[in-house]
Amino acid sequence: MTVLYIALGLFLLALVLFWQSGRQRREAGLPGGRVIYTDTRTWGPVEKPLYFAELGLTGKPDYLVERKDRIIPVEVKSGHAPEAPYDSHIFQLASYCLLVDKTYGKRPPYGIIHYTNRDFAVDYTPELESNLLDLLIEMRRDEYRSSVPRSHEDVARCARCGFQTACDQRLV
Ligand code: SF4
Repeated sequence: MTVLYIALGLFLLALVLFWQSGRQRREAGLPGGRVIYTDTRTWGPVEKPLYFAELGLTGKPDYLVERKDRIIPVEVKSGHAPEAPYDSHIFQLASYCLLVDKTYGKRPPYGIIHYTNRDFAVDYTPELESNLLDLLIEMRRDEYRSSVPRSHEDVARCARCGFQTACDQRLV
């Protein structure tokens, strides 16, 4: 069963990546993220995926930081930081914030996206949570559609995409 939950979580995250580019940050009301300094010595790896049955949502943040009775999820990205975090990264982090809230009963005020050269704190606002829940509902609905249109014109993204060989809408 655990494997099923992990697979479902990975599938949902893949769909988030697929969805993200067509969404305008301002329309979605996404927070931009603020640059912060982080002390990586306080980061603790996460042993098991977090799971919230009501939404069938599972995910495993790279790290959790316990600080002043708060639990802050950290998502580590291998590339250099963009000007502001990508929408897909923000939604992924928001899903971890939601999972931390539901698992530990402590709502994270923000999460951290760690790029190789810079860290961003992204506030987990009620608006971001609402956008995430809307997105999850849309994704669930689209699971039953035979085809979901590509949401971007980014050739480079398709070139990096792990679904490229199976995708009939790839740009490369
Ligand atoms: S190949 Fe391109 S269009 Fe297809 S899923 Fe990947 S990023 Fe999206």
